[in-house]
Amino acid sequence: MIPFNKPPYVGTELAYVREAVEANRKISGDGPFTQKATAWLEEQTGSQKVLLTTSGTTALEMAALLCNLSAGDEVILPSYTFSTTATAFVAVGARLVFVDIRPDTMNIDEKKIEAAITDKTKVIAVVHYAGVSCEMDAIMDIAERHGLLVVEDAAQGVLSSYKGRPLGTIGDFGCYSFHETKNYSMGEGGALLIRDPEYNEQAEIIREKGTNRSNFLRGEVDKYTWVSYGSSCLPSDMCAAYLYGQLLEAKRVYDDRMKSWTAYYRSFCPLQERGLVQLPVVPEGCVQNAHMFYLKCASLEQRDVLISFLKDKGVHAVFHYVPLHSSPAGMKYGRFDGVDAHTTAASDCLVRLPLFFGMTDDEVSSVISAVLDFFDRA
Ligand SMILES: *Cc1c(COP(=O)(O)O)cnc(C)c1O
Repeated sequence: MIPFNKPPYVGTELAYVREAVEANRKISGDGPFTQKATAWLEEQTGSQKVLLTTSGTTALEMAALLCNLSAGDEVILPSYTFSTTATAFVAVGARLVFVDIRPDTMNIDEKKIEAAITDKTKVIAVVHYAGVSCEMDAIMDIAERHGLLVVEDAAQGVLSSYKGRPLGTIGDFGCYSFHETKNYSMGEGGALLIRDPEYNEQAEIIREKGTNRSNFLRGEVDKYTWVSYGSSCLPSDMCAAYLYGQLLEAKRVYDDRMKSWTAYYRSFCPLQERGLVQLPVVPEGCVQNAHMFYLKCASLEQRDVLISFLKDKGVHAVFHYVPLHSSPAGMKYGRFDGVDAHTTAASDCLVRLPLFFGMTDDEVSSVISAVLDFFDRA
């Protein structure tokens, strides 16, 4: 069976983990490897502040807290996303307002955002699906005109960019995930990127259990104490060591994934020309990171038959999000603004193919043959 995902492992990670344990004698948070991984991310993205977290979800929760919302404030987001884009804002008392997606990128439709704004709207939370950017110029323009904050769920978008700007650095806050299903991993982990330095101190306090320990470690205060609400958001330095090993090989991981992605894309273009499938669209100005390869079938029924056909051929393919506005919690905490023209219909037809670091040419060819075989019979 060709698995849908294999956790990324480049081979150097364990030497760094060993160094954390045996040489550094530092396995809790904010040790030398957290500093190294953070410095690498700041350098690569140009972000003035990156904070490593225990997950992408934790980064989203920190971002939601930093938005300083009051109960009943509204957050605009796509319905086609992972649960925690939403739960982070539910936890701070916000109401969710779901907006339709564009079927070409599966990202929030920037043209439908403005109609969803009310006098309670405070935040637009965008999701860069499959590591392909949302239309950030239009979205930042709307946010500026209405005085709204922008949170980028760039969990899938590490090392992708929009008009030359790394995803996660355009909005007020950017959130990365280093879960084992993402391009670069530490098992469970993530990062928060902060655009404006005015939020740095509050972010450090939230991350350090509500204390000003970060100021203390920098010698800015002579004792540390509980100053505000916070939690424990720092990952172990052992996990940061694993991530650091992988970040140093980021180019190799990127090229490897891109090779499989491009092979899929080229092989399925003829299917698209025959009108049998729709392939992912990467708009002008967007550079994607080969996080995911999906195609869209004609219907939900065909999608399900394709998945079971592939399973019989030894290929593990999967569908993706059930739109949040039709989930029990989504109905409780939010509403869909306008018409669901594409969210449900497009998600019903979508299937994701195996794509992971180290996928062999044979594995890629087997997946391609199986998919072509299916549509030849159809
Ligand atoms: C993976 C993912 C998350 C959650 O990240 P974790 O590190 O698993 O908490 C959030 N949003 C999106 C869009 C994701 O793909």
